[in-house]
Amino acid sequence: SKRARLDRFLSSELKIKRKDIRLMLAQNRVRVDGIVAKDIQQLVDEFSHVSVDDAVLKNNRPSYVMLNKPVGVVSATKDDKHKTVIDLLDHPAKSELHIVGRLDLNTSGLMLLTNDGRWSRKLMSPESKVEKRYRVTLQNPLSTEYIDAFAKGFYFEFEDITTQAAKLEIISEHIAEVTLTEGKYHQIKRMFGRFRNPVIGLHRYSVGELLLDPDLDEGGSRELSVEEVNDIF
Ligand code: URA
Repeated sequence: SKRARLDRFLSSELKIKRKDIRLMLAQNRVRVDGIVAKDIQQLVDEFSHVSVDDAVLKNNRPSYVMLNKPVGVVSATKDDKHKTVIDLLDHPAKSELHIVGRLDLNTSGLMLLTNDGRWSRKLMSPESKVEKRYRVTLQNPLSTEYIDAFAKGFYFEFEDITTQAAKLEIISEHIAEVTLTEGKYHQIKRMFGRFRNPVIGLHRYSVGELLLDPDLDEGGSRELSVEEVNDIF
């Protein structure tokens, strides 16, 4: 995230000289996150709340949203044909949010959006190995062979990678739960494709420690709590 010294930030924002900024600070006219600022070298970033004489110059609160994505909605910020997840949100600064990990058009379930790039990068980083859990409905019956194959991994020619060990649990003849620690393009559909078994329903119900809130209707969303934001990893 972009960080700037307070005097530089104020000088460019208010178009006044840095020595006049020092005077403003000495007069206790500047607040950062509600506290009177004394130090010109204090760093402010995209989430800082900066005010001068009670006029707010910068008020970007970090925001973390979970959304229950319906089938048929695109996980993008703009699309010509379909409704996007941003269209579904009722959020004061939704244009500043970005999507953390996409889902296919016909996949439903837990999607995360935030304006905190550091958090989303950590969540998406391959090193974090955050577990994503999916409920999968298959056209054809499952068998125990799938379990070993998913654990061993599949070679994906296009990316020239072998998928990481994935956990597959058979819930019933046509329903499995799959845990991935990565997210390649159409990954689950391609994995079941190796058994010539089309995926007819795909729903993500958790990311890391975070479960999709059962009180959210399809298309519904809410802010994460501080605990949810911190405990997801
Ligand atoms: N795997 C898929 O094939 N699609 C998704 O949306 C997520 C995982």
